Amino acid sequence: MTGVLYAGRSAQWETYRGLLAEPLSALRPDLSLINMSDGQVSAPEDVEYILYAPDGPLVDFAPFINTKLVQSLWAGVERVVGNPSLNQPLARMVEDGLRLGMADYVMGHVMRHHLDSDYFAQAAAGTWDPHRVPPLARDRRVGILGLGALGGFVGQKLAQYGFNVAGWSRSAKNLTGITSYHGDAGLDQLIRQSEIVVLLLPRTAATENIIDAARLAQMPRGAAIINPGRGQLINDADLLAALNSGHISGATLDVFRTEPLPAQHPYWAHPNVLVTSHIASVTRPEHAAEVILDNIARSLEGREILNLVDRDAGY
Ligand code: NDP
Repeated sequence: MTGVLYAGRSAQWETYRGLLAEPLSALRPDLSLINMSDGQVSAPEDVEYILYAPDGPLVDFAPFINTKLVQSLWAGVERVVGNPSLNQPLARMVEDGLRLGMADYVMGHVMRHHLDSDYFAQAAAGTWDPHRVPPLARDRRVGILGLGALGGFVGQKLAQYGFNVAGWSRSAKNLTGITSYHGDAGLDQLIRQSEIVVLLLPRTAATENIIDAARLAQMPRGAAIINPGRGQLINDADLLAALNSGHISGATLDVFRTEPLPAQHPYWAHPNVLVTSHIASVTRPEHAAEVILDNIARSLEGREILNLVDRDAGY
């Protein structure tokens, strides 16, 4: 018996089973979906494909000696990419639901910072300030760090709306509507000009603490930060200092070094910080199922697997 092992969150097993069991057997009649709910697999050598999430039961990949692909159900792979037992190819999740959800989140919070909504929300009753007119979106410079599946999509949505969008990635990009930078000098340029900075980088050794005191000081006075990427991208003490000095006007933070964010963390009480609960976007199983089936079909037919992780780069 050969199989596809579901090693995701147990609460989603029935959903994925409903979406995948029949189409998998249509791909190949002996391809059955197995649930790893109890952490045990009787014949790991028969597992050809693994559907993996870091909040699922799988920790040791070593017994899966014939597994051709580990398909992550999450976009972020930092919790698995360094697992020393992982010798199988790893693909990250790229799907339309994740992209659309992230676009909603970023668009909403870019708009909030752009319109200075928190100023009016926090103003005392009776405060009437008719001179606080925001610029037009086309005159608002938004910078996106990370122009991958999410950052590139979100940046293009912001540009289509009319924002002045620039972005930064490791490799050079040519994305309609986005002025693209790469390399260290490119990051300097992007940071210096961006009034709203959106972090959509993966967590890797190269991106950890990328937003520190020096980078914050480069941002224009009054700039805002939105971080739906990973908490480790930001040096928290440096951000708090920049918020307290007023150099950074506000931060919308969805991800943190420790999650849930501890109750005593200064972010919770800071008047210019909005904390959201790692909800910027999630994998939508109905879209993820299409991606999973496509990648397994590709593997069965010897075609190129999509969204393979570069283990050296860490994403
Ligand atoms: P991708 O791998 O598609 O894109 C990553 C981007 O970051 C690429 O443009 C890449 O450059 C760039 N990058 C990586 N390392 C560097 C570096 N050292 N210097 C410059 N650029 C770099 O990832 P996704 O867009 O799918 O996801 C991004 C992150 O979003 C995830 O890793 C995850 O942490 C986070 N996320 C958060 C969610 C939430 O709910 N808060 C939900 C989903 C994801 P290049 O294109 O040149 O390779």
